[in-house]
Amino acid sequence: MDVSELPLVGGHPALDLVNTLERGVPAPGWKPRDYVSTPATLLLWARRAELITEAEATTVAEAWERDPDAAHAALAAGQDIRESLHLILLATAALDVAPIDVAASSAALDRLHCRWLAAAGRSRLTPDPRGASALRLVVGLVPASLVPDRAVDAALDLLRTADIGRVRRCPTESGGCGWIFLDRSRNASRRWCRMADCGTEVKARRLTERRRAARQATSAES
Ligand SMILES: [Zn+2]
Repeated sequence: MDVSELPLVGGHPALDLVNTLERGVPAPGWKPRDYVSTPATLLLWARRAELITEAEATTVAEAWERDPDAAHAALAAGQDIRESLHLILLATAALDVAPIDVAASSAALDRLHCRWLAAAGRSRLTPDPRGASALRLVVGLVPASLVPDRAVDAALDLLRTADIGRVRRCPTESGGCGWIFLDRSRNASRRWCRMADCGTEVKARRLTERRRAARQATSAES
């Protein structure tokens, strides 16, 4: 699976960004896969997550082609926003991840703030005569930084407006993958990021374990 097939299950683009890196329980020798490890994959993801339009993607690609350093700076910024947001979310009570690293989460919030300040400097308030409100905030006036600017805008939107009690983590302690998602189910009962993958996989594993236990019990009897 590559970024073009990566499931977008977060329910919010900022959470889909968090889920571009494999999460889960760190094990010796395991290196989590990063689905946006190059500027090109980050751009593809941003288009799929609808952070940018098709026309904007073309403008970004052209800017990055002219200035590869800017492309790599945008990638580093995108990954920094992603990891900062992840740490901040892990420190929220709703995710119930112990122990909460308060210092790391506070440093992450500072980093996110800096990214947002930079993005605000590349944004503009525009009168919106035909809109429902007086003003529109256009985020990302500089193509080379458009993707991280939209990403930090999405992160702030999530942190400021989403019902944090509905932000969940696919339970690694029960075999889930650690991805984060917004539970929009009516009775707030969603447990897995993807029932078809994580939920089914865990159920299958439990069944195998039960069968193995049953076999061992039978062989112990005979
Ligand atoms: Zn999962």
